[in-house]
Amino acid sequence: MRQSQLFTRTKRENPSDEEAKNAQLLIRGGYIYKEMAGVYALLPLGLRVVNKIKKIVGEEMEKIGSQEIIMTTLQNKEIWEKTDRWSDDNVDIWFKSQLKNGAEVGFGWSHEEPIVEMMKSFVSSYQSLPVYVHQFQNKLRNEVRAKSGIMRCREFVMKDMYSFCETEEDHMKFYNLATEAYLNVYKRLGLGDITYVTSASGGAFTKNFSHEFQTICEAGEDVIYVHKKENYAVNEEIFNDETLAKLGAQKEDFEMKKAAEVGNIFTFGTEKCEKMGLYFTNSEGEKKPVFLGSYGVGVTRLVGVLTEIFSDDKGIVWPREIAPFAVHLIRLGEDMAEAESLYKELTEKGVEVLFDDRANATAGEKFADADLLGMPMRVVVSKRSLEAGGAEIKGRTETESRVVPLSEVLSALTTNH
Ligand code: ATP
Ligand code: MG
Repeated sequence: MRQSQLFTRTKRENPSDEEAKNAQLLIRGGYIYKEMAGVYALLPLGLRVVNKIKKIVGEEMEKIGSQEIIMTTLQNKEIWEKTDRWSDDNVDIWFKSQLKNGAEVGFGWSHEEPIVEMMKSFVSSYQSLPVYVHQFQNKLRNEVRAKSGIMRCREFVMKDMYSFCETEEDHMKFYNLATEAYLNVYKRLGLGDITYVTSASGGAFTKNFSHEFQTICEAGEDVIYVHKKENYAVNEEIFNDETLAKLGAQKEDFEMKKAAEVGNIFTFGTEKCEKMGLYFTNSEGEKKPVFLGSYGVGVTRLVGVLTEIFSDDKGIVWPREIAPFAVHLIRLGEDMAEAESLYKELTEKGVEVLFDDRANATAGEKFADADLLGMPMRVVVSKRSLEAGGAEIKGRTETESRVVPLSEVLSALTTNH
């Protein structure tokens, strides 16, 4: 993509109404646009990052057998009344509205009840189970606080997945597969070393733990206790003697950390399906309630977490897998035919290139933008680089660039990193 055609512009100054580093950098880079507190539009660069995260998440969910769907944002009041979750006393984050005829509707903050209702049309016998489905959906939540930039929004992209099984045993098999799939996602996003499966309270419908995926992050809103030797953590909210006894661990085994919840998986059991009437006939001809699980990933929150973690005083440092572009190609000086043909060659070979072909920006502005926007590799073609024998290549965090003949830029970019 040509930067001269990108309608967004970078900003030198931090927005005065944002405290969070992620929002400051993402707004300055033109990744997101603030509609209002906790509500951000995704601009071309930001959308590319979100799409890359979605691709990774989608691949990992499909690997464990889940099928992609999209549920609706407008939701039926009656469905939520069945489990007593329409009431604002029980769910305090609803956005609600009314149809012209006066009927009340809600805007989806979760899709647990609607999907259980929907499955009543498709699940009737053990032969139709198990079913695993997921979606990427904008969730609407009337959050009290919206101070952490894109990490806590009133409208945000979530991947939510639901599992419908015959028995608890089948459910637990899938739950364990989902745990592994989630860990793969965070690993592929470059967060593997700092993301922990974290025991947390089970929520309204289960006495057991739910499992959160918590990424160590100063800007996170949660406090977790990370086991010093083993690879798990416990959320502060349940870090007590009873929980420690269940886990067979001592207080001293843990270290306190600030963290951001980037995913959460739940075992619901059969209670919700009983309340809502989702039953199936097992192989013995008995009528049984379906065993339910629910699995969420905070897709746009991850953009914020990644920005918090992968950034320095100059800007963002995207991990290669999710950078909007792999290469930021910078042309210094006009009429640089060599830069044009390098852009053409790289894009034809499938390299994602942001080409700074702007005639009205100085070298200093272009370099500052490259650092702010954070593509993993920077390639500069200038009179000076050509005289030195080609293009100057530099990784985002490297301090020195090296000159590579134009004919070898492609292989230098694809083999080195
Ligand atoms: P939190 O405790 O942070 O409010 P939650 O437990 O209410 O989150 P879930 O219902 O478990 O959230 O949603 C699944 C995932 O969606 C969370 O793990 C988180 O990554 C993301 N998420 C939840 N609320 C928000 C929000 N307001 N803005 C952005 N992402 C969110
Ligand atoms: Mg949660």
